[in-house]
Amino acid sequence: MQKRFGDHVVLDDLNFAVRKGDRVTLIGPSGSGKTTILRLVMTLEEANEGYILIDGQPLTHVERDGKRVAVKEKDRTATRKRIGMVFQQFNLFPNMTVIENIIEGPVHVLGVPKADAKRRAHELLEKVGLPEKANAHPSQLSGGQQQRIAIARALAMDPEILLLDEVTSALDPEVVGEVLGILRTIAEETDVTMLIVTHEMQFARDVSNRVLMFDGGRIVEEGEPDQLFSNPIEQRTKDFLAAVL
Ligand code: ATP
Repeated sequence: MQKRFGDHVVLDDLNFAVRKGDRVTLIGPSGSGKTTILRLVMTLEEANEGYILIDGQPLTHVERDGKRVAVKEKDRTATRKRIGMVFQQFNLFPNMTVIENIIEGPVHVLGVPKADAKRRAHELLEKVGLPEKANAHPSQLSGGQQQRIAIARALAMDPEILLLDEVTSALDPEVVGEVLGILRTIAEETDVTMLIVTHEMQFARDVSNRVLMFDGGRIVEEGEPDQLFSNPIEQRTKDFLAAVL
């Protein structure tokens, strides 16, 4: 697959598969294309060449006989519902309360009855440790609390695939641990497939079963976390880890 912004090739010759239940962490220097991969999976971007399959279903388009064929809107929406994303900047709806943020997707996208969605939202608020914040507005919450709500909102959609894009990068250091703790619990308690972009190498090591090291829009090395972090093969990976660890 290739992704360009204008003439700038951001991802090139990219080809990798993720198995159900995998926890794959993407690491690499700034600008190496990690976030762009998550945005492609979330259908916020489209590849210029090649395509993404989810369970054998093309996500946005497929190539047949050298031609790009768009996926029908209905099929695209159906696949898209299986994927949840948590962003660096939380992206909560500022004009809605916490509970309204969490039930928005289930009610309006999945068609879950409002009472059921609310019940589930309260369970999720317990899970992320913020049961008392149901009626607060995002602006009344700290960054760490907003991110915990964003995690609850993503989980409310019962995604099969969860995309985590530098979810602790905008947080004060003292609350990073609690957000990562919640994600660790989710990883332990569910079989959700995770694609994680993070600069938290210890978290990557704890949670993932596979690490892909990117540089210049390509995978330069991949492996199990213990091997890749303790015993990297490629010089580029060694240099990167020496700079961040
Ligand atoms: P970081 O760790 O800093 O977030 P990254 O590895 O996630 O970096 P991306 O955010 O995927 O990198 O960006 C890859 C490259 O694509 C960068 O050079 C970036 O400037 C460029 N880029 C990303 N989005 C756009 C866009 N919408 N328009 C133009 N260029 C973009």
